[in-house]
Amino acid sequence: SLTGAEVRESLNELNRLARTAGAEVAGTVLQKRPRPDPAHFVGRGKAEELAALCSAAGAGLLIFDQDLSPAQARNLENVTGVRVLDRTQIILDIFARRARTREGKLQVELAQLNYVLPRLTGRGTELSRLGGGIGTRGPGETKLETDRRRIRQRIADLQREIAEVRRHRQLLRRARKVAPVPLVALVGYTNAGKSSLLNALTGAVVSVEDRLFATLDPTSRQLRLPTNEVVVLTDTVGFIRHLPHHLVAAFRATLEEVVEADLLLHVVDLSHPAHQAHITAVDGVLEELGAGGKPRLMVFNKTDLVEPGELDLLGRNDVAVSALTGAGLDTLRAAVADALSTWRTRERFLIP
Ligand code: GDP
Repeated sequence: SLTGAEVRESLNELNRLARTAGAEVAGTVLQKRPRPDPAHFVGRGKAEELAALCSAAGAGLLIFDQDLSPAQARNLENVTGVRVLDRTQIILDIFARRARTREGKLQVELAQLNYVLPRLTGRGTELSRLGGGIGTRGPGETKLETDRRRIRQRIADLQREIAEVRRHRQLLRRARKVAPVPLVALVGYTNAGKSSLLNALTGAVVSVEDRLFATLDPTSRQLRLPTNEVVVLTDTVGFIRHLPHHLVAAFRATLEEVVEADLLLHVVDLSHPAHQAHITAVDGVLEELGAGGKPRLMVFNKTDLVEPGELDLLGRNDVAVSALTGAGLDTLRAAVADALSTWRTRERFLIP
């Protein structure tokens, strides 16, 4: 049901996801078929072709853009002799590498275990992949049952720990509400330039990488507006299309910063050919988070890379910037001050 352009865009993204996860991409293979093969996802003949390609290229890993069933992954590994991963596993791997805060790490582990649990087949390799030291088996139980039980226990522990961290964060947040510092959150498709913009606006140093998911946990900095007012500017995890639903749920707490924000800055990479689709994807996630109605400024970034004529197509309230050259940043600061004062006036009239 995807168009050719959508498939190419999705594979490009998978390419970058793979590189972000530390892989070197030897090549990309496309197969067109009416429906996935139940045993191998691709046809058996294609699987053998992939095996030959891998050995010719010296590749040790096959990554599929769609999620595979445990049986499909296993069969593919048997036919090709190389390790097989799907998109969700790559994203989980990246999340695991990037998680910085305690909460982020807990959430990643929870998402990994939720992914693994229904896939446990008794082969025993899944757990060693997680690097977890799963201990001795209980008397009269198979290894599989013991593993399942221990994973369920760990999931319950993680959920409790996350709830605790969250409660603590809510206390901090309440304290912040007493001192009324407006909260402004940067949202946007991954690689749009959110971290760069946070740096450019606040002089902060957070890692900027031409890779996906450079930002996992929110990073907050103070930003002084032309009105001399100080706001907290928060960077959020990059959004991405087709992020599996269970991952969105696992990272909800990270994105809670978005729900709490007084103003959203929706950062768009104007130079990206698919930027319109990115805007739609981000709007969809915001809607899901219940943040669809938040005051929002559209910030079109990377204007240094586009023809000046393209800027004429932007709306009156849109802000055009370049985090790289600093163009438009003063306008953006003024627009933030403006949006916050409009919002405040409205709040005052709505809430007596
Ligand atoms: P994030 O994923 O949204 O946080 O994006 P980053 O801030 O990590 O930026 C992604 C890539 O885009 C990096 O290679 C940045 O150097 C680059 N980038 C960010 N802003 C600009 C810009 O205004 N112009 C250009 N040419 N590149 C930019």
